[in-house]
Amino acid sequence: MYALRRSLPRHRFEELLAELVEVAPRYRLDEVIVVVEAEELFPGHPTPETMPAQVEQLHRVRDALEPLGIAYSLNPWVTRGHEDRLRPNTIPGAQTAVNLHGQAATSVTCLLSAAWRANLAATWGLYASTRPRVIWVEDDIRDFGPAECYCPLHLARFSALVGHDVAREELIAALIRPGEPHPWRSLWLGVRSEAALESMEVIRDAVRAASPDTRIGLMSSGPRNHVREARDWHRVADALGGDILSRPTLGNYWEWGPPRGLYFSQDSIKLTRSVLPEGVEDFTEVESVPFSRYAKSVAFMDATLAVSFAGGASGCTLNVFDHLGSPMENEPHYGRLLGERKDFYAGLADRLGRGGKHRGINLIHRDDSAEKVRLEPGSGLADLAEGGFSAVEAFEAAGIPTIYEASPVTFVCGRQAWSLTDAEIGDLLTQGLFLDGLAAAILCERGYSADLGLLGGTMPERLDELGMFAAESIEDERFGGAPGRLVTAQLPMVDYSARFMPLHPMKEATVVGHLVDPGLRSQHPAMIAFENARGGRIMVHGWDYDTAVGPLGVSFHHPYRVQQLQAAVRWLFHGRAPLLVRGDGAWPLASRIDADDETLLSFLDLSLDPWPRVEFEFAAARRPVALEHLRTDGSWHPVDTELVTVADGVATLGWPDPVGLNEPLFLAVVWGQKA
Ligand SMILES: [Zn+2]
Repeated sequence: MYALRRSLPRHRFEELLAELVEVAPRYRLDEVIVVVEAEELFPGHPTPETMPAQVEQLHRVRDALEPLGIAYSLNPWVTRGHEDRLRPNTIPGAQTAVNLHGQAATSVTCLLSAAWRANLAATWGLYASTRPRVIWVEDDIRDFGPAECYCPLHLARFSALVGHDVAREELIAALIRPGEPHPWRSLWLGVRSEAALESMEVIRDAVRAASPDTRIGLMSSGPRNHVREARDWHRVADALGGDILSRPTLGNYWEWGPPRGLYFSQDSIKLTRSVLPEGVEDFTEVESVPFSRYAKSVAFMDATLAVSFAGGASGCTLNVFDHLGSPMENEPHYGRLLGERKDFYAGLADRLGRGGKHRGINLIHRDDSAEKVRLEPGSGLADLAEGGFSAVEAFEAAGIPTIYEASPVTFVCGRQAWSLTDAEIGDLLTQGLFLDGLAAAILCERGYSADLGLLGGTMPERLDELGMFAAESIEDERFGGAPGRLVTAQLPMVDYSARFMPLHPMKEATVVGHLVDPGLRSQHPAMIAFENARGGRIMVHGWDYDTAVGPLGVSFHHPYRVQQLQAAVRWLFHGRAPLLVRGDGAWPLASRIDADDETLLSFLDLSLDPWPRVEFEFAAARRPVALEHLRTDGSWHPVDTELVTVADGVATLGWPDPVGLNEPLFLAVVWGQKA
């Protein structure tokens, strides 16, 4: 469960090893992942000549942990390198990365460099010779962002595919051409994807040769980003030996904002799991950078642990102490927290370890979205990343769980509508489908307006170019509306201007509400509900979510919004939503996991104000035979099933006690034959 990532830099090695042996049992660590030559003390790529003393130390760490029953794993800090920081190129003959502007890196290498790959094989063989349980591949093996490589090796491989020499500037212009993607984009993404796979095979072969029992772990940066290198996750798992572990990123390296940043974390766990082969174990990324409680409070770290285990992770990689050699006991609070909370999280992991299926509204992800997305004029390479995170926040904050598994209801967010094939769209239109304004406009452009209940559609426009507005009025009582219910269309900043698609509904469509001006006069329908000829139920909300929710979120969310979205989702599920949560609070994070004979409900509060009580509404075929609550000692304690009422296939469960940031609620609803 607990895998501590720990640096033992050589200038204090003896002292830090002694401390580790002393405190690891108290922190109740299961594993120590030794990080070598990380961050500030990274001198440049290691080579076989620089490594002997370090390898000797790694053997000593492993031998010291073994009698404690604590596993030894290893985390070499670089593959190609995270960033230069002016470190030199220490590998003779290695090609360093060349960025989109033509600037060569001093230290970060190209994934195609033969000298670098030879050095990688040699050094990883030495690392693996210390027989770690797991050797973790850093997320720097990615090829997007500042070190995205346009070096002569990459251009030569690409030019060979195209059949003539292609210059970097010419290639980049083709990649970001607005509108229909240039055919080069897909070819180029293929070159980069292959380069990464070849490099991973080098690592796999080196590790297998030196230590056949060592497993390989993959640290990654989120599937929405890895589309920029067309990562095929199943092939990546194969290239790394098949039986891999995964460390999804959780972001939130420091407390840049309130705990609702953890929406990203929970999404990263679910989304990364959905792209990998079934059965891959997750160890989440719990980090505090640049370390100490100035970066991250103990309370925030505990909430991150809760999100990890509630998300079904097997464990956490804990990167919470600095890499400069400060003793962990300088700030003993993190270690105390780990020890104190272990029973609770073990109780949760034990129950979730029995397996199950997450239930909620399905969100879209496609590994090949960067090949298909149509860019707007003025876009850059970063715009090839997959959008859609706004949907996570829109629904989760309204108490509606989001998933990446099959579901009768799907939400398509914005540009994601370009990633779908016509066959996929046809299928979605027969089910429950929720679209934001941009996704609806794209589907109209693709010829589906009549299936959406629209007479046609144009691309969303900035509100300040569209007209003078005050608010979204939510009117239809079947969708959470009532006279006078307004949600702002303007705040929180003077220059805030989300984009909105003016809806032109067919007369058969139900108009849920309107965008209104300061005189409360209706200007444009803002949301519609429609049952189409294919038997599908469609909701269209005129906002372009990536502009309305994405930048700040706070103006999109509101107690009226919760009622509106819950009613919309309930209608899409024909009255039986998998889970909706309500209460006198904000920023909920709820989930429902169905196992064979039980349903696990969880509720986390991502605000600083406790919820006085929580109400769960969830589809249920019958009354439960038992209800159990996870207590802080890790035991599941029976509670009165009278808390649950079931009517018309819908259960309601009111939890009477307060739930706060560090008191997450986990309930098991047992349907089976328990006495
Ligand atoms: Zn290159």
